[in-house]
Amino acid sequence: MADTEQKCQFCGAKKSTGRRFIGGGGVIICQDCIKSSYDILLRLDQLDKKRNDDFPSVKNLKKPSEIVSFLDQYVVGQDRAKRSIAVAVYNHYKRVRNLVDPDVDIEKSNILMIGPTGSGKTYLARSLAKILGVPFAISDATTLTESGYVGEDVESVLFRLIKAADNDIQKAQKGIVYIDEIDKIARKGENPSITRDVSGEGVQAALLKILEGTVAYVPPKGGRKHPEATMLEIDTSNILFICGGAFSGIEKNIAGRNNKAIGFDPAAEENKEETLSEQLRELTPQDLIKYGMTPEFVGRLPVIVALDELDEDALVRILTEPRNSLVKQYQRLLLLDGVKLEFEPEALREIARIAIRKKTGARGLRAIMEAVMEDTMYRIPDEDNVKKCIITKAAVQGEEKPVFITG
Ligand code: ADP
Repeated sequence: MADTEQKCQFCGAKKSTGRRFIGGGGVIICQDCIKSSYDILLRLDQLDKKRNDDFPSVKNLKKPSEIVSFLDQYVVGQDRAKRSIAVAVYNHYKRVRNLVDPDVDIEKSNILMIGPTGSGKTYLARSLAKILGVPFAISDATTLTESGYVGEDVESVLFRLIKAADNDIQKAQKGIVYIDEIDKIARKGENPSITRDVSGEGVQAALLKILEGTVAYVPPKGGRKHPEATMLEIDTSNILFICGGAFSGIEKNIAGRNNKAIGFDPAAEENKEETLSEQLRELTPQDLIKYGMTPEFVGRLPVIVALDELDEDALVRILTEPRNSLVKQYQRLLLLDGVKLEFEPEALREIARIAIRKKTGARGLRAIMEAVMEDTMYRIPDEDNVKKCIITKAAVQGEEKPVFITG
């Protein structure tokens, strides 16, 4: 009698073995063969990756234009910043992958981002790490002190990166570190201090070596160095450091250098039109040194990127355009309750205006949106017939309730 039992067409196992079978296009495969095929694919991927690592070529690197188009999906505007960062990163990874003739010493392309609070400095750095698939850690320069003082040693910055890499030092050595509030470690006076400046100049000096590339020793549990503890050894030569700060008031240094917009010079009137973003574009390393960064420190951050201040239009775009924009997030949430959420254009503008008044940049948008939406999010689950909710300008201003449309 012919055997009519279904069989895996790869290994011949019968259905009576209790395995799950998947079929399609006249072919049947059992769960064990699916698993083995998946393992083979994973192994092939790993082999490809290893081949890329062993025989690196520029072809394996993400091109600057690819980096920019990825960033475009998340970060609104900041086009010049995106381009400079993309080029710096491309060059950085050429260096990391040893694609450059060893006789030519290529400078490390650490980046300094300057821009007001909430202009997207941290967000850009984080998005960059995402596209490159490398570990990413954020530190705050204001918590750092020189070794021996109360606060964190500069090595804590590396400790965070090692944690972000799940303790894989090799991975961490190719990661990205973002150090925020770097302007807060500027020297206070214009002249180098005779007494040591613990909070500023000393920290800059302590950071120099790790920015430049050195083998650093990091306490395994973070915190302070301890003579008896076995240290984690990490080479920082290939870590990309991105520092960010608002450098508020630096535009005066720029204007001063350019003899612009100072005092009551009638000729300065026309310069009043120049926005902060435009002024920052003219920033030079000298302006940073005058601000209180040491020349050595500025020298370790060869790529200077000025971010644009976000105006009303930009904030409205941030609310609506990115893949994970706040408006899309709330729309998705309410859709789960069967409600279509709409924002009137003027409502979005009003939210942007409130953020500008609060001087929080894009960072403040979430809190404002949360306040606007709270009442609606509370009431909607109790409403059976609401099909649509419209957020009006008056609703944002708290003068009226959002419009509920029943269907
Ligand atoms: P900064 O570091 O300059 O103070 P952040 O990067 O922390 O600002 O920005 C705060 C938040 O605002 C980010 O998490 C992001 O959601 C949003 N954001 C800021 N700038 C942009 C932008 N250009 N495009 C999209 N979202 C942005």
